[in-house]
Amino acid sequence: MCQLLLEGKVALVTGGARGIGREIALLLASQGADIALCDVNLEQAEETAKEIRLSGRECLAFKADVTDLKSVQEMVDKILDKFKKLDILINNAGIAKDNLILRMSEEDWDKVIAVNLKGTFVCTKIASKVMLKQRSGRIINLASIIGIMGNAGQANYAASKAGIIALTKSVAKELASRGITVNAIAPGFIKTEMTARLPDDIQKKMLSGIPLGRFGEPKDVADLVLFLSSESSSYITGQVVQIDGGMLM
Ligand code: NDP
Repeated sequence: MCQLLLEGKVALVTGGARGIGREIALLLASQGADIALCDVNLEQAEETAKEIRLSGRECLAFKADVTDLKSVQEMVDKILDKFKKLDILINNAGIAKDNLILRMSEEDWDKVIAVNLKGTFVCTKIASKVMLKQRSGRIINLASIIGIMGNAGQANYAASKAGIIALTKSVAKELASRGITVNAIAPGFIKTEMTARLPDDIQKKMLSGIPLGRFGEPKDVADLVLFLSSESSSYITGQVVQIDGGMLM
């Protein structure tokens, strides 16, 4: 029988209730990892957790807001109580609140920066303390090609994702000597509830700019996360890997 890629590993996926996070959690579990999920929507996180348990892996679901350091610390303490370690952190929780700069409210700026950028900082800070002691770990941050190229109507989102890229490179340099790799993934347009909200004409225009001629699926992103979580990627750190059908090159 072929060896599973993540046998015996423990992974925390933030925003794991639905969309890309859910797909990542299911795929990592299918490769042998036990999973902890956190989301602001506990009911939906429990649904995903149920599916993972049915597949034979252990899964804990938490209601935790990634911007709240205290609740993330409590969650990681509970993960350690149960699993005794934390090997993989996927900083996936993210939101968008789009508007042109003149119409963008201070509240929408603050909220997007808080969830996307501060949330990544909080979870990385707490998980890396555990990984430093273990002298091993994988941290994978969901950025976006918008954080590289910018986008009209998404100044807050683009700034948060550019910030995640800079955070990724800085932390990769800090943690490399302890066997911990830190990488970012920059997806293009992936079919989830986040992108379903975009008007049809915008979606059509975006599709015309994708050389591979289709939008991405959450599974496309999950496959890349699996590779970056596994031993096969042990010589890759501080990188931003685009997964966008060729949209930005
Ligand atoms: P979704 O909106 O479908 O899912 C995001 C999940 O994160 C939701 O379950 C959401 O909960 C949860 N969440 C939101 N805020 C918090 C918080 N403060 N604490 C914990 N969980 C939270 O998004 P996607 O699956 O599309 O995106 C996942 C990641 O990928 C995001 O970081 C996004 O920016 C990034 N990305 C997505 C792209 C795409 O095309 N879809 C492209 C590039 C990057 P709730 O139920 O409350 O919404």
